[in-house]
Amino acid sequence: MAVQDLNLEVIEVFNETHDVKTLRFKLDKPLDFQAGQFVMLYMDIPDQHGKVENIKRAYSIASSPAKKDWIDINFRVYSFGRFTPPLFNLKLGDKIKAKGPFGMFVHKEEDGKNVVFLSAGTGIAPIRGMIKLIEEKNLDRNTVLFSSCKTTEDLIFHEEFLRLAGKNKNFRYVPTITRINESKKEWNGEKGRISIELIKKYVKDLKNNFFYICGPPEMVENSREILIFEGVSKENIKFERFH
Ligand SMILES: Cc1cc2nc3c(=O)[nH]c(=O)nc-3n(C[C@H](O)[C@H](O)[C@H](O)COP(=O)(O)OP(=O)(O)OC[C@H]3O[C@@H](n4cnc5c(N)ncnc54)[C@H](O)[C@@H]3O)c2cc1C
Repeated sequence: MAVQDLNLEVIEVFNETHDVKTLRFKLDKPLDFQAGQFVMLYMDIPDQHGKVENIKRAYSIASSPAKKDWIDINFRVYSFGRFTPPLFNLKLGDKIKAKGPFGMFVHKEEDGKNVVFLSAGTGIAPIRGMIKLIEEKNLDRNTVLFSSCKTTEDLIFHEEFLRLAGKNKNFRYVPTITRINESKKEWNGEKGRISIELIKKYVKDLKNNFFYICGPPEMVENSREILIFEGVSKENIKFERFH
């Protein structure tokens, strides 16, 4: 799929948590991409001396490739970050430039029927694109999604995944909360990081599954090592590190 220069316009803003947003961008031309790929976003941002620089950052496409006229970008704002504070402040009608699609973290037909997603925080973004694709195209998949977030207030796309799990018996949603003591809402679900014990509780035959992992580098490396130690072949693990 050829890389294109794109002009994006904000057409919807979804406030997911206190520091996570999804921006829906209208594209100036239809974009062919694979579920899980990312785009490079560009913005002119002044430094502390007021000198404007054109800054770029990578963001996964959090929507399905079946939708070609717009894309969703889901991201966390870092108060000391260079790019995310101005990105967080974009309003309806604001325009920015982008380039894409890029990346090999994609869901393919030949990856098989049994699919396990491991996500930490905003690592959910490309995985949501893959899950949307599976749902919209009605692909024959047995899917388990493990999504770890710090507190019950940090869960991303939680209601959406609960609804999907309610109507699709082939989709299992396992959110897990790593800092339960800091959470405000009552929580009867899983707690702690995504461990091998947790994965085995919901996935009976690890070697018969294809794994997609996305999140901070440490989480991705740890998860990969654990799975390989348990006998999952490297070829059956795709991953994307955010940093
Ligand atoms: C292929 C790829 C896809 C990506 N997709 C997404 C996505 O879909 N959603 C998304 O939110 N991000 C994504 N990222 C990360 C994104 O590109 C930026 O790095 C991130 O948004 C921070 O940008 P920033 O300019 O605000 O921070 P920077 O100015 O680059 O960093 C400033 C400080 O912010 C803090 N910080 C920045 N990033 C992180 C982090 N990930 N974890 C902890 N602390 C951090 C650190 O303290 C850092 O020193 C992706 C990265 C890659 C490589």
